[in-house]
Amino acid sequence: MTILLGAVADDFTGATDLANTLVKEGMRVCQVLGAPNAETDYGDAEAVVVALKSRTAPVAEAVEQSLTAMRWLQAEGAKQIISKYCSTFDSTADGNIGPIADAMLDAQGGGFAFVCPAFPANKRTIYQGHLFVGPDLLSDSSMKDHPLTPMRDASLVRLMEAQSSKRCGLIPLETVREGASAVQAAADQLAADGFSYGVVDALTDDDLRIIGYAAKDHALITGGSGVATGLPKNFRNAGLLGEPITAEQPSMTGRRLVMAGSCSTATRAQIDVAKANWPTRMINVHALAEGDAEIGALIDWAMAQGADQPILLYSSADPAEVKEIQAQYGVTEAGEMVERAMGIIASSLHGAGFDRILVAGGETSGAVTTALKPKTLRIAQEIATGVPWTEALGGAPLALALKSGNFGGPNFFAEAFEALE
Ligand code: ADP
Repeated sequence: MTILLGAVADDFTGATDLANTLVKEGMRVCQVLGAPNAETDYGDAEAVVVALKSRTAPVAEAVEQSLTAMRWLQAEGAKQIISKYCSTFDSTADGNIGPIADAMLDAQGGGFAFVCPAFPANKRTIYQGHLFVGPDLLSDSSMKDHPLTPMRDASLVRLMEAQSSKRCGLIPLETVREGASAVQAAADQLAADGFSYGVVDALTDDDLRIIGYAAKDHALITGGSGVATGLPKNFRNAGLLGEPITAEQPSMTGRRLVMAGSCSTATRAQIDVAKANWPTRMINVHALAEGDAEIGALIDWAMAQGADQPILLYSSADPAEVKEIQAQYGVTEAGEMVERAMGIIASSLHGAGFDRILVAGGETSGAVTTALKPKTLRIAQEIATGVPWTEALGGAPLALALKSGNFGGPNFFAEAFEALE
C-alpha cells in the first residue's frame, strides 16, 4: 500500500481536524505523531497526516522538520502534499507558514501553490485576499491579542509575502465562481508572471471544492483542512482511489475510562450525567499537591471498580473552585499538576487493561497523549463534530478519543462508548 495524499500539519489538533475531514470524504487516514521514520506503521492508509509542533518553533527547526516529513511522505508514494496550518493563519512575522512553504516548493524544484486557510464551517472565510473570522477581519478578531501569534493584518497576500522570499498573488472570488478551469488558468497565469503563491478567495464549502479540483495537478497545496475537502475526488477521477469507504470503529473490548480535565460548561454537564450512571471519582488537587500518594489512590480506586461499566476520573471544577485553587498554587502550576497526574494515571491504567480511553480537555488530551505515546493513530468515525475515535497502530491495543472541552452534548461520554459497540 502506498500513500496517495500526504500532509504536514503544524500542530496536533490541526492534524486531527484535517485527518477527520479526509475520513469524511471516504479515505483511509492515519495521523503520525511527530517525525516519521522507517519504522512508522500507517496500516493501509491512503492519506497520512504528520502532526508536528512547528507552529511557534524556531524557523530553521520548523522548516527542517517539515521537509523531513514531506520527504518521508513522498518516499512512501504521496503524490500531493498539503502544508496544513491554522484557519486563522497563526504565525509570527518570521513564519513559520511562509518559510515552510518556500522550502517545500524549493525542494520540489519550484512551482506554484495555493494559499487557502478558509474554513467556512468555522466561519473563516477569504474575500479579496482578506481573512475573516465571522464578521470581523482577522486583525479585528480576538486573534489580534493571541499570546504567541498575534495577527495584526488580515491581508493574506501581505502576510505571505512578509514571511516568504517569493511573490504571492490573488485569485479572487469571481474567478472561483467561474469554476475549476478558471481557477487553474488564473494559477497558471500567476505562475507565468513570476508568482509562487496565490491566495484564493473562498466563502463556502462549494468554493473549497472548486479550489480542490483546480489543485489536482499541484504537488503542494497550503492551507487549512477545508481546502482538502475536494482532493479525494481528484484521486478517484484519476482512478487511483476506490469508492468512499466508511472507516471502521476500533474493535477494542477492554475496560473503558473517561479522564476529564476540562472545566468547561459542556464537560461539567457531561460529568453530571456520568455521576448518575457510572463509578466516578474526583481528583483532589490539594491532595495532589501533597505528593503522589493521591495518584496511587486514584489508580487503586479505578482498578477496584467493576469492569462492566465505564469509569470517570475528573479534576473539573466550577469557576469559583478553580479560581481558589489557582490562587493557592498558581494558574500554570495547578494546570501542570493536574495534567501530570492525568498522564501518569492514564498510562498506568492503559497498562492494566483500560484500552478504550476518552479524554475531555485540549491540554488534558495533550498530556494523556504524551503519556500514552501512540506513534500513529488510525482515524475512525466521528462521535460528534470534529471528535473522531482513533486507534493506535503498532503498540498495545488502544482506542482513544480526544475532545476539546466545549464539544458534545450532555450524553457525549455514553454516546462515544456506544459508538464502539
Ligand atoms: P479545555 O479544552 O476546556 O480548555 P483543557 O484540558 O485544555 O480544557 O484545560 C483545562 C486546564 O485546567 C488544564 O490545564 C487542567 O490541568 C486544568 N485544571 C483541571 N482541573 C483543574 C482544577 N480543579 N483546578 C485548576 N486547574 C484545573
